Amino acid sequence: MADIILTADRTLMSDYHHNEFIGFGTCAPPNVIPDWLYSFLFFPPIEEKEGIPVAAPYGLRKIEAQLLMEGFDVLTVDPSHLSHYINGAKVLGIYVMDPFGLGPASSTFAAILKKEPFLAYYFRRLLDDPSIKAAKKQGLRIIIGGPGVWQFRYRPKFIRDYGIDCIIEGEAEKVIGKIVRNAINGDKLPTYYEVGIEETPTLEEIPTIVHPSINGLVEIGRGCCRGCKFCSVTLRPLRWYPIDKILQEIDVNQREGYTMGACLHAEDVMLYGSRNTYPEDEKLIKLHEAVVKKCSGGLSWSHCSLASVALKPGLFARLSEMIRQRQDWWGAEVGIETGSPELAKKIMPAKAHPFKPEQWPEVVRIGMGLMHDHMLIPACTLIVGVPEETENDLIKTIELIDDLKNVRSLIVPLFFVPMGKLKNENWFKETQMTELHKELLVRCLLHDFRWIDDLIGISFVGKWYAKPLRLLYTLFVRIIEHKAVKAGITIETSTWKQNKLKYAITKFKHLESGAAVAQTGRAAGC
Ligand code: SF4
Repeated sequence: MADIILTADRTLMSDYHHNEFIGFGTCAPPNVIPDWLYSFLFFPPIEEKEGIPVAAPYGLRKIEAQLLMEGFDVLTVDPSHLSHYINGAKVLGIYVMDPFGLGPASSTFAAILKKEPFLAYYFRRLLDDPSIKAAKKQGLRIIIGGPGVWQFRYRPKFIRDYGIDCIIEGEAEKVIGKIVRNAINGDKLPTYYEVGIEETPTLEEIPTIVHPSINGLVEIGRGCCRGCKFCSVTLRPLRWYPIDKILQEIDVNQREGYTMGACLHAEDVMLYGSRNTYPEDEKLIKLHEAVVKKCSGGLSWSHCSLASVALKPGLFARLSEMIRQRQDWWGAEVGIETGSPELAKKIMPAKAHPFKPEQWPEVVRIGMGLMHDHMLIPACTLIVGVPEETENDLIKTIELIDDLKNVRSLIVPLFFVPMGKLKNENWFKETQMTELHKELLVRCLLHDFRWIDDLIGISFVGKWYAKPLRLLYTLFVRIIEHKAVKAGITIETSTWKQNKLKYAITKFKHLESGAAVAQTGRAAGC
């Protein structure tokens, strides 16, 4: 058995039906859909062979690669099979994204629905695993890393109660070996280890992953030069991987049969290879030529900025043409944050750059229009309750959402969470919501209802499981719509939609009884 076991909780060890957008569902709390069905819809467990997952979160794969390179005996294990591997292990490394549901999306859902989000529940459940508790008694050291570690600062009791030995904050490639060595030797570990700027790895010091990443995600760069005050990414230096390094990681995914495509990860894919906020045409085209040629399963982007798209419509159209040689659409997360030029100036003065912050709403309209025309489907975020926000700011954001009515997209309002340069500010609580905040939330909900059928349809085109999944998601949306109507929100419901709801409910009842039988059968088999 390996000395070092790496894992993550069940909500992270999923490929979300090969659609990262669906992963957003892990931020929600238990709701109108039975938990077993909800988890199947939004975070089905990743395929595994004897407890070894066929793919794992990219950040975990980077740490695995670094430890292997330094000669450690390390194995990444599915969370539901830890008991087979942990006995005798010296270190357990756990990767976290949003362990307590304090991230903007999950804390917003939790505040509104007043329940713990799934991702927080499953993280706690992972640490409650009796095999971890038994191994802890034998001297196992627990080390935690990943983008969600900041949340442990709000949970000191949890750290003590679960015997967590060390939490690493920041890019860990240059420090993980030293910390793991100390853990194995039984030396004292710092409860928090904040990776200093001087310990941030250079490109050459970042290893290539050794085993597949979930949904073929590969980093193309790290850092961001826009400097938004509410964001922690901005504090890291900007680095872009050479194309060869990116292709090597795609090779790793494909060699192990994980061939569904690639998700290019950067804070703004449109700025690949750039030192400032001007996209570099040649570098972007070369990158996409190489990746499209290699990935018959298609590609997606993790994030892109509206300013880069609005600045280079011709380049964006060219990239879209290249990408759509093999697929009908692609997706990315996009930050709108506000429709107010005044607020943009205060909290994200370079978000629109090289346009002026005063032009931000126009940049959003142009960028979103181009995305619609060229089939990039954005999952957009808005930030609600940021310090210094005024009524006028909210009115402008509401007006902007109305202007985006015809843009194929999801728009998700998120309560302000103190991070980055605003980390000492107060959290925004649902009790502070004014009528304007509520109005904004409702407008976003209506926008999403308007587009959701279209997005569900597009997401599963050509997949064998398209019909049943589409039916289940449609049913879920109809139930939420129904709840919204009961809560007093007026939704235009066409006869066509009403008929579809009746059809979905009939099918659901049929499926539910079938699935219940399947579940009982499995329980009896165990
Ligand atoms: S919010 Fe986005 S654009 Fe702004 S600093 Fe963070 S990563 Fe960069």
